[in-house]
Amino acid sequence: MNSEADDYSSNTKRLHFLLVPLMEQGHMIPMIDLARLLATRDILVTFATTPVNLSRIQPIVDRAAASALPIRFVELHFPVADVGLPDGCESVDLLPSTELILPFLNALPLLRDPLEAHLRISDPFGWPKPVCLISDNQQHWTADVARCLNIPRLIFHGPSCFFLYCNLLINRHRAELEAALEASSGGSIMLPDLPHPIRVSNREVSAVFSSDPDWSKYMETIRVAEESADGVLVNSFVELEPWYFERYGEATGKPVWPVGPLSLYKEEIEVKAARGRVSSIDNNLLFQWLDKQVVGSVVLVSFGSVIRNTMAQLVELGHGLEASGRPFIWVVKEVAERQVPGSEWVAEFEKRVEGRGIMIRGWAPQAAILGHEAVGGFVTHCGWNSMLEAVAMGVVMATWPHLYDQFLNELLAVEVLKIGVVVAVEEPKMFGAEKGDEVVVKVSRGDVERIVERLMVGGKEGEERRERAKELRDKARTAMEEGGSSWKGLQDVINYVSERQKIL
Ligand code: UDP
Repeated sequence: MNSEADDYSSNTKRLHFLLVPLMEQGHMIPMIDLARLLATRDILVTFATTPVNLSRIQPIVDRAAASALPIRFVELHFPVADVGLPDGCESVDLLPSTELILPFLNALPLLRDPLEAHLRISDPFGWPKPVCLISDNQQHWTADVARCLNIPRLIFHGPSCFFLYCNLLINRHRAELEAALEASSGGSIMLPDLPHPIRVSNREVSAVFSSDPDWSKYMETIRVAEESADGVLVNSFVELEPWYFERYGEATGKPVWPVGPLSLYKEEIEVKAARGRVSSIDNNLLFQWLDKQVVGSVVLVSFGSVIRNTMAQLVELGHGLEASGRPFIWVVKEVAERQVPGSEWVAEFEKRVEGRGIMIRGWAPQAAILGHEAVGGFVTHCGWNSMLEAVAMGVVMATWPHLYDQFLNELLAVEVLKIGVVVAVEEPKMFGAEKGDEVVVKVSRGDVERIVERLMVGGKEGEERRERAKELRDKARTAMEEGGSSWKGLQDVINYVSERQKIL
């Protein structure tokens, strides 16, 4: 490809999309994949985020530049100190306490000025003005920016349509649900009018609501901004949840486009391993170890980017993994980040399991690990990206949700898709509702051992689960290939914007 300056005339004819992700790994990662997918369809893409987040994805930025993909990464100054957040805390996982999550989210509109300043600069390479803004649903302030630019705003939704639709139902019937839950002796009720038996308890209901008025106000702002959006992109595929795609589209009255699993964006293993952040382990050694393991024998244990467990819980989990006798990779962020009491236990544990288990202290190349044929099971917190990455790779999961959408995601894996086994966690946690060491989700070592056995073996039931997971993997891949449902979904987004541009 020619240099950008040489391409001046062709660029002016191309569509230019502006992407604004939420600064949290679980939201940034799929939007980076989306940016690259759009760029491979001849779209000019501006990806706007803050300096810390850009430096974290430097390998991806470099790779995009080397492959001449038309993506520009734009730095937006985020004045965290002005709102009392610690210096450099430009991503949710960098916040020292979950109590700072709401102040962080409330500070997001501060990105508006730097973004608008960037948009006012005349483009040295002849890129036309953006004709579409795709923003994370939490970046509600972008609604005004799109309005000023007179361009459509599409929202990018992290979770599945199953979650989005159930969440709508719970919202709509909140008072009745709460009354029914109080009255029912089992403390759970069936969500109405669904094709699957989705039994919710206080767990699911209170995980998506907060009684804190500040949180409620924030959620309401998001809801209003969502209503004004022109369409919704969902990181999922129709074949996974056809009924829910249809109903969610009907309920919102907007186009809802499937564009996932975005993690299937094709790239070299080193780049895939650097999704989100640079790996905390020598990838060569890790994959050499995986190459030596029996196909489908390894358990991956990872709780995403934000969840942190207490030392007491880590010890139980470790003992359970050890007793399971299975090879494992265990991602432990807690030990890398803070000196938790008892962290010497970790060093002893590592010595005991040497050769059979690998502990990654910090960031793991998760999507790449899940794609290795040695990995046969995944103990997950049910973050949507993690779940979908497992689906895309045909890996069955043990579901251990902690907060928000994760409880409903668990129901999708277990009750609808039937590719998951439950770890049985009762307590929901709302961001900001936790205090230090009280954040204990009590799963004993015996439970961990039993669950791992059920996940990795599990008799006929286990075989059927694995069979279903492989079928879904094949459907996911077909969806992303040229002509597949998600491939078409992205094309429909482009066509929609192109048509809108003609009208404007
Ligand atoms: N992830 C990773 N390495 C880690 C932890 C997480 O690559 O050590 C990635 C994971 O593959 C997923 C994202 O970070 O793409 C986490 O998103 P998810 O929705 O699963 O959970 P969240 O972090 O939002 O709770």
